Amino acid sequence: MGGLLDRRRLMLGAGALGLSGCATRGPALAPAPGLVAATETIAPIRADMERISRVTVCLRPFRKAGPRMDVETVGDKRVVHNYGHGGSGWSLSWGAGTIAARNALSGGERDIAVLGAGALGLTTATLLQQAGANVTIYARERMFEARSARATGTWSPDSRIAAEGSTSPEFAARWEEMTRISYRTFQTWLGLPGDPVQWQDRYVLLDEDRGPGTEPPNADPFRFATFGDRVPDLRHRSRVLAPGSHPFPVASVRRGSAMQFNIAAYARLLTSEFLMAGGRIETMTFHTPADLAVLKQKVVVNCTGYGARALWKDETVVPVRGQITWLLPQPEVNYGLFYNDVTVVSRDDGLVVQYVGDGEMFGYNVNNESVDPAETELAVKTLADLFSRFPAARL
Ligand SMILES: Cc1cc2nc3c(=O)[nH]c(=O)nc-3n(C[C@H](O)[C@H](O)[C@H](O)COP(=O)(O)OP(=O)(O)OC[C@H]3O[C@@H](n4cnc5c(N)ncnc54)[C@H](O)[C@@H]3O)c2cc1C
Repeated sequence: MGGLLDRRRLMLGAGALGLSGCATRGPALAPAPGLVAATETIAPIRADMERISRVTVCLRPFRKAGPRMDVETVGDKRVVHNYGHGGSGWSLSWGAGTIAARNALSGGERDIAVLGAGALGLTTATLLQQAGANVTIYARERMFEARSARATGTWSPDSRIAAEGSTSPEFAARWEEMTRISYRTFQTWLGLPGDPVQWQDRYVLLDEDRGPGTEPPNADPFRFATFGDRVPDLRHRSRVLAPGSHPFPVASVRRGSAMQFNIAAYARLLTSEFLMAGGRIETMTFHTPADLAVLKQKVVVNCTGYGARALWKDETVVPVRGQITWLLPQPEVNYGLFYNDVTVVSRDDGLVVQYVGDGEMFGYNVNNESVDPAETELAVKTLADLFSRFPAARL
């Protein structure tokens, strides 16, 4: 499986960019010059099985070739695809939506149907509205029942977005366009009431002080593609903290910054802005592409995520399962961390705790959306062990 580098890259479920350069393959792994001291107080996480508020499971819609974004004709409809964004759907949503909206409007139609009310559907619909279109979303589930609502919520634009060597020559440039548009857009969501989008410190904690060159041989059937080198200006490098300058009871600590999405507040704001601008959301299930014939709109944007596998009979969409254990919110925990294959993101709606396995292959091709209690226990107990050794623990 993936090995140390992939595990560190996975911190907080994020890809290279989400890691702020602290655990990627390549140059970003080089230790930062010198050691710095932590300055802020670090509140301990109350990792206790009794503080679990819920456990959720979700499937990332992964395609080796990257998201499907082409245009096809079905009966009298022009269908613009926008699905299969793997572990990067929230992160790439504004950029992918911009490309999909451009394709949808290129024929001159201004009455547009969007299938799906997840991250991709809502952002694409908003962008279409901003371009002057009348938009109706048709979806089986609204946002909070959709898989998007069960995501970690970190900036991770190249997390399980494609397989190395399986994308078209143009894909890397399209990924960069999507990433830059999304990043720019997220900066306009910072500093709002409820913090729909915010920056937080992230710590990578290792029991052994292992440097480059300790990576075991990779036995994965393929590698996930990484594109972080295309946007070095969007990286926020991490620093090694000097021993004794922080309270973590481990051999090595790196601190970086990462952008995160507080999905409860963010998704509600997205939905209400769409509705206030005159958008409509109708509950509807489609069983085959031919069912689109019932729609009055001639242009349809397909944002059905993992649902596209069944709807479009697209078996190139492969599930990558992920389970989140939610601990009761701790507003004083204003950081996230990675420790022993467990990640934490502190959000307003709870502490998002995830066992991420030993690499990005963890959960690959697993379509089981039921809760695994052993996985939850492992994640919470790993944190409990860490914080039981925390100095002056006030658990
Ligand atoms: C555990 C986990 C953690 C993740 N963390 C992150 C993260 O931190 N950052 C990040 O960027 N990404 C993350 N992701 C990935 C992200 O969640 C997905 O890429 C994203 O949610 C996909 O959004 P979507 O809108 O395409 O699909 P969905 O959210 O699945 O929405 C699909 C919509 O289409 C509708 N639909 C589907 N089929 C039909 C049908 N036949 N008829 C009618 N309607 C239909 C659904 O009802 C729904 O409204 C994570 C994923 C998982 C599983």
